[in-house]
Amino acid sequence: MELGLKGKWAIVCGASKGLGYACAHQLAQEGVNVVLVARTDQTLQDSAQQIRDETGAHVIAVAADIASAAGREQVLAAAPQVDILVNNAGGPPPGDFRDFSREDWLAALDANMLAPIEMIKATVDAMIARRFGRIVNITSMAVKAPVDILCLSNGARAGLTGFTAGLSRQVVQHNVTINNLLPGKFDTARLRANNTRRAQATGVALDEAIIQQKAAIPAGRFGEAPEFGHACAFLCSAHSGYITGQNLLIDGGVYHGLL
Ligand code: NAP
Repeated sequence: MELGLKGKWAIVCGASKGLGYACAHQLAQEGVNVVLVARTDQTLQDSAQQIRDETGAHVIAVAADIASAAGREQVLAAAPQVDILVNNAGGPPPGDFRDFSREDWLAALDANMLAPIEMIKATVDAMIARRFGRIVNITSMAVKAPVDILCLSNGARAGLTGFTAGLSRQVVQHNVTINNLLPGKFDTARLRANNTRRAQATGVALDEAIIQQKAAIPAGRFGEAPEFGHACAFLCSAHSGYITGQNLLIDGGVYHGLL
């Protein structure tokens, strides 16, 4: 299926690894020029080169912290135009809410709620003027089914979800859409690190813990990042102008609710 994206420009945040990388790679595969963002320069440069080599796309790598105003400025200055914006950053740490300080909450809000809102604010009006814009926020399955130890994530992502639910209905008349992609368990560096940490904390062998987790997923496996990238590219496509304000779960069937 031709997605109608050739020559568009995208900013993909949190894109040197995992789900963000998969989104950037798939968009590049569709002929999109990509501004790739992450904090660690060497990993980012390697990922950018891999995308160039595998897709032939024009890729600009910007090493910046998207949670900071200075980082966002750097990223926006590097993008000749923004037709597509994929908001993403690392998730906040797990823990008991009693152990988190105001600073912990502000860091979670900065990375997972306020940074996406600032990036949208900086780009949405030009999208409206050009009558094309696609904004995808990578959030979490925890938005639909909050996870007790992910209280920082539950709170910050719910805030972003509420904000985008309102804005998405205001801008869709201009062919600008805003949707959220909600990953379940995807086999990324983050999931592997979390599993290792949990195995150490509980004393359950890592292999056993992984078998147990997969058994709780109707699909019987973790998601593969490229599956996520394909969904993102479709939401960004020329054919998706009537899909907006949605929270699309990609979780192998874990969520049991009807809606
Ligand atoms: P990942 O493999 O750890 O990759 C995160 C990417 O974001 C890396 O490129 C990282 O590079 C970059 N990054 C992190 N913080 C950043 C910042 N402040 N500014 C710029 N770049 C930043 O994570 P993932 O598994 O792809 O997860 C992506 C998002 O989905 C996270 O918010 C995560 O909580 C959420 N999620 C993931 C899963 C899952 O199963 N994987 C499930 C639910 C939700 P640097 O560290 O070098 O900046």
